[in-house]
Amino acid sequence: MRRLFVSIAFVLLAASVMAGVSVSKRYRSERNKEREVRKSTEFIILHTTEAAEKSSLRHVSERGLCHYCVTPSGAIYQIIDRHRVAFHAGCSMWNAKEEIDKHSIGIECVGYHDKVMPRKQLNAIRDLVAELQAIYGIPDDKVLTHSQVAFGEKNKWQKRRHRGRKRCGMLFAMPSVRGVLKLDSRPAFDPDVKAKRLIVADKYLNSVLYGSLDTMVKTYGKATIKKVDPTKSKLVKADPKKKGITGEVNSRPASAKFKIIPQSIAELNAQGFKAVGVVSKKKLPLNIVGKHWNSKDTYYSIRGRVIPGNIVDPKRFEEGMTIWRKPTK
Ligand SMILES: [Zn+2]
Repeated sequence: MRRLFVSIAFVLLAASVMAGVSVSKRYRSERNKEREVRKSTEFIILHTTEAAEKSSLRHVSERGLCHYCVTPSGAIYQIIDRHRVAFHAGCSMWNAKEEIDKHSIGIECVGYHDKVMPRKQLNAIRDLVAELQAIYGIPDDKVLTHSQVAFGEKNKWQKRRHRGRKRCGMLFAMPSVRGVLKLDSRPAFDPDVKAKRLIVADKYLNSVLYGSLDTMVKTYGKATIKKVDPTKSKLVKADPKKKGITGEVNSRPASAKFKIIPQSIAELNAQGFKAVGVVSKKKLPLNIVGKHWNSKDTYYSIRGRVIPGNIVDPKRFEEGMTIWRKPTK
């Protein structure tokens, strides 16, 4: 009897380990439909929302600002499907590569860039990051903070393009916090500052990201981590044994091919859509395409913008909107 109990316990344990990370779809963003499929995944970018839980979740969901959002209690919410582009990094650069949104997964963590986070939350971030690293083959030193990749254009106060536009996610570069997250390395220097593409505009931030300043040793304990040359860092082999993330919508391997939602008139033409009418006071969408007016296979274009029928706002119908559909065979 005892042996049976032990083996049942073992099976349960194995199952829970293999199940990996599970996420909630409760705040999945309506913006998913508008977002193109990402062609490469090289980085994981960690953010801090700098706001309370409820308003953070609402904000990132409404605007589609990250792929996942992790709360202080350790709950993980899927916001944008992970194969699509989320708008999280803004004006960004790493090792001369710009527009980091097109090459990364963004994780928003409810909390502040310079305040400690509960262990429960850090453990959830650790597990989620580990799973994503295995799926995409991302090494520890390519798990970066938003403040590491964000940069500012030259402006009234800064004569040159500069690093230090924000301190978002700063704590995740500290060795003590990386120790809890089981990230054994970090970049030894800022590759874009070293190559003189950018200058340092926030010395304090710079000494946290690349120096020895670590304000959380008292909370999380000292940790030593390897410093890696970011210009030589490469992706590693993905781990096919990983089960992936449970509870996700549309979670498919990064290599699969997806239908790209047309975002310009050129793309509509390229995908075989034809203009079937123009909205006017006398000709409403219902008169032109009938019940298909709000179908996902119907598109509206106005002033260069393309809006899918399933998210078009009927209050915003206006004269001059062109309606597009594929000819039926
Ligand atoms: Zn951020």
